[in-house]
Amino acid sequence: MSMKLKGRPIMQQKPKGTYDLLPNETIKYQALENHIKKLMELYGYAEIRTPIFEHSSVFHRKTELSDMVTKETYNFKDKGDRDLTLRPEGTAGAIRAYVENKLFANQGLTKLYYLGPNFRYERPQKGRFRQFYQFGIEAVGIKSSSLDAEVIALSYKLIASLGLKQVKIKVNSLGDIASRSHYKDALTLYFEGHRSELCSDCQRRITENPIRILDCKIDSHKPFVKEAATPSDYYSEEAKKYFSEVLSYLDSMGINYEVDKRLVRGLDYYGHTVFEVEANIKGFGAQNVLGGGGHYEHLVQELGGPDLDGVGIAFGMERLMMALECENIQLHEDVKPDFFIITFDKKIHQKALGLLTKLRDLGFKGDIDHESKGFKGQLKLAVNSKAKYFIIIGEEEIEQGLFTLKDSFTQEQEKVTLETLIKKLGK
Ligand code: AMP
Repeated sequence: MSMKLKGRPIMQQKPKGTYDLLPNETIKYQALENHIKKLMELYGYAEIRTPIFEHSSVFHRKTELSDMVTKETYNFKDKGDRDLTLRPEGTAGAIRAYVENKLFANQGLTKLYYLGPNFRYERPQKGRFRQFYQFGIEAVGIKSSSLDAEVIALSYKLIASLGLKQVKIKVNSLGDIASRSHYKDALTLYFEGHRSELCSDCQRRITENPIRILDCKIDSHKPFVKEAATPSDYYSEEAKKYFSEVLSYLDSMGINYEVDKRLVRGLDYYGHTVFEVEANIKGFGAQNVLGGGGHYEHLVQELGGPDLDGVGIAFGMERLMMALECENIQLHEDVKPDFFIITFDKKIHQKALGLLTKLRDLGFKGDIDHESKGFKGQLKLAVNSKAKYFIIIGEEEIEQGLFTLKDSFTQEQEKVTLETLIKKLGK
């Protein structure tokens, strides 16, 4: 029974900062995801899937003062009055799961990867969305300069295996806790002298966490911020040694990188090695960081686990896709269907469905008209489907036990038995 709608329904639109992936684009993402999954197998990482929302406390931790966590999260209460947050990034949830499921009991290293949507209330622009997909890895449970280097090498391998050329890897070290503490003190002192020139958030950060001033969206471009000291000015001997080990491992693995002394990354759980993968492709836009990550020292403990280190990196899938498109790299194959069945008569439809099922069971891709269209209409569908072969069935064919097989490219057609038809489709 049809129901009359009062007035004209309004066409609904997707929320700002989100996008629809139509099938011709989804196919590209699937190819990228498959590429990534193969690489993960090669490097021994296993997939973890965590909820897209967590208790807010997983992200909103005392020590995390980044803009992303303090200003950009989607927070809500559920009907049970629980404070929940849509995940803005993958690491905190993955580590929460690592702790809750006691993966640390395996001892030693656990290598995880994830792929899924994240949510940040940011100002949308090219390459920046409110819902975006990240692929990321977490290598948790040990502290090792060799492992830090391996995660950077893996990022390099991802870029190289995708065929991306105009991309570089930037590396830096924030130093160990002692180094960071001296560095923070120095920055606090320095920024006190510029208090009135800082935005209100950064004025608060002067004592709470001055490193975040360096990547504040408002203040980071101001000359005095750019002239502030770098972490390397305060490295302890241990931090220096650790970082030089990372760099020498990278050299021995033949990884091209650049040390960027000003790289501090946007999250507060990092210590020691940090890195970014940056696209320098013409027309790419301002959001040119494809991926970023680093070593974290106390995140596992902060989320209720033992005091274990980890290292990880996350890539934005949309930005990887943009880079592939800018460099004209296609990962997916344009797969054409094998066949399209055309019938001369409605009565034959039943037989044709039998053939369709049989061919699909054998693994051939193909279709048929479901609207009882005439011959011309079916032919149009067949042509639009871009199928390699058109299989034409009429009364005559049924009587003789034969099918007319037309090669859509050469336009040649012949009458064949089912056996020959299957052989031909298989070629
Ligand atoms: P982050 O978690 O901020 O270190 O970001 C890691 C990567 O995720 C970035 O390098 C981007 O590729 C991607 N990313 C972060 N935020 C967004 C966003 N709002 N829209 C699209 N991609 C993003």
